[in-house]
Amino acid sequence: MMNEQAIEKLVIVGGGTAGWMSAALISRLFAGTLNIELIESNAIGTVGVGEATIPPIQVFNDLAGVDEQEFLRDTKATIKLAIEFQNWGAIGDRYLHGFGFVGRNVGAISFQHAYLKALADGVAGPLSDYSLNNLAAAAGRFNRLARIEDTPLPGITYAYHFDAGLYARFLRTQSEARGVKRREGRIQEVLLDPDSGGVAGLKMEDAVEVSGDFFIDCSGFNSLLFNQSLGVEYDDWSEWLLCNRAIAVPSSSEPRSLRPYTQSIAHQAGWQWRIPLQHRTGNGHVYCDRFISEDEATQVLLDNLEGEPLKDPLSLRFTPGCRKKLWHRNCVALGLSSGFIEPLESTSIHLIQIGITNLLKVFPTKGDNAAKAREYNRRMRFEYEAIRDFIILHYHQTSREDTPFWKHVKNMDIPKNLQDKMASFSESGHLYRIDDELFTEVGWLQVMLGQGIRPKQYNALADTLSSAQLGEYLQNLHTILKTTVDRLQPYPEFLKTCSK
Ligand SMILES: Cc1cc2nc3c(=O)[nH]c(=O)nc-3n(C[C@H](O)[C@H](O)[C@H](O)COP(=O)(O)OP(=O)(O)OC[C@H]3O[C@@H](n4cnc5c(N)ncnc54)[C@H](O)[C@@H]3O)c2cc1C
Repeated sequence: MMNEQAIEKLVIVGGGTAGWMSAALISRLFAGTLNIELIESNAIGTVGVGEATIPPIQVFNDLAGVDEQEFLRDTKATIKLAIEFQNWGAIGDRYLHGFGFVGRNVGAISFQHAYLKALADGVAGPLSDYSLNNLAAAAGRFNRLARIEDTPLPGITYAYHFDAGLYARFLRTQSEARGVKRREGRIQEVLLDPDSGGVAGLKMEDAVEVSGDFFIDCSGFNSLLFNQSLGVEYDDWSEWLLCNRAIAVPSSSEPRSLRPYTQSIAHQAGWQWRIPLQHRTGNGHVYCDRFISEDEATQVLLDNLEGEPLKDPLSLRFTPGCRKKLWHRNCVALGLSSGFIEPLESTSIHLIQIGITNLLKVFPTKGDNAAKAREYNRRMRFEYEAIRDFIILHYHQTSREDTPFWKHVKNMDIPKNLQDKMASFSESGHLYRIDDELFTEVGWLQVMLGQGIRPKQYNALADTLSSAQLGEYLQNLHTILKTTVDRLQPYPEFLKTCSK
């Protein structure tokens, strides 16, 4: 039976990561039954950053039919097991936020309560001692590992660092092979339908008009459809996320930089990323221009490179936040056109991924899509806000007051959900995940402890275990994880296989 209301033509505006991810997945799943055209302008170019991801990218790549070996080779990708945070809770502090599991519940006792009691009793090591990912990251070892043999424990959970330009090119090749039509050129005007108020077509510089039933706005910070044409308002979150500028520069790859994790190093008014790829390291300094000038921020970055800069520094401006609607009329906004939360936990590409998968769940027809749009907007808003709160935690939960920037973020008001979560953990050691928000309890645990929260209490159930029992339990767990890590390949050896 034909769905007579099915849309016939989808137009994707923009060929950055968002545009080509959309084209690749939608063209694969619709398998030739939907006409897809993507417009991009080489003269405008792409934002050129966005190279660290989180593990769900593997689900995306699988769905999009990406072969991992080809992907690793063609995008010069490397493995990411964790993020290392330096100088966040206090100057000189260092902790890892690793992917995958941390510890294991003891019967009905949540791991964090057992761990908090063990800490109080002086029989616990650092939290990372109970994370396979963090131990492997620190040891510089990696293999694909689905489970730890002869135990109920899962294996290693990983994501990637990749070259953003190469990833878009890689997905473009796949999309074009599946029939996606690419049009090169600048869109000069967005033509609105006078009746519906939606987008009727796009007028190119050469006067060609491109029409479609539905449009995905992947035009980056330009936000050509959502901002410039449909005028969808933007929620500005600068009161909590102060950073509004970034300087990015690639540097030469050095053997010591080839770590299987991203680094995030806090500075006086922001922080610096280091993302090691096969052929270079991506670096950037995210900062707030109320507290440090562009020249100073550039100097801080250049002074903290591990290799030689390969290009002139690129300066970027942004407003942290999210559009009030991410589906409006016959358009959806994905990627930077929809909003931006700074890349501290590498969540933007993930937001593109869930934007596409949520759109697929309620894919539009030619008829009335109002209910679908409402549901899409509700869901995406929830994702954005949950990520926002997790990022704010990193700034607000600090003992740093050494600069006006840190004083400000330490003392600012924060959103209610985050206040409640922090209070719950610091008063009782209790952690919770709101619905299926992106970051799980172990993510919150690592960052809350890493940033310096020391809960006043733990669940009384943990007192049913003696110090000796707990000490032995943690020691056994650590031994299993450590022995597993010792058997993994040194990471530089694994990396050699990535370029083949
Ligand atoms: C400083 C910084 C660091 C980041 N780091 C990370 C990270 O580590 N991890 C992560 O997940 N995300 C990160 N991000 C976010 C990530 O870069 C983006 O989510 C991702 O690159 C998607 O960008 P995009 O496709 O929306 O926009 P862009 O890459 O800017 O693409 C926009 C496209 O629209 C086209 N276009 C625009 N206007 C027109 C027009 N008039 N006519 C025709 N074409 C047009 C452009 O040519 C281009 O093809 C970072 C972002 C910034 C700013």
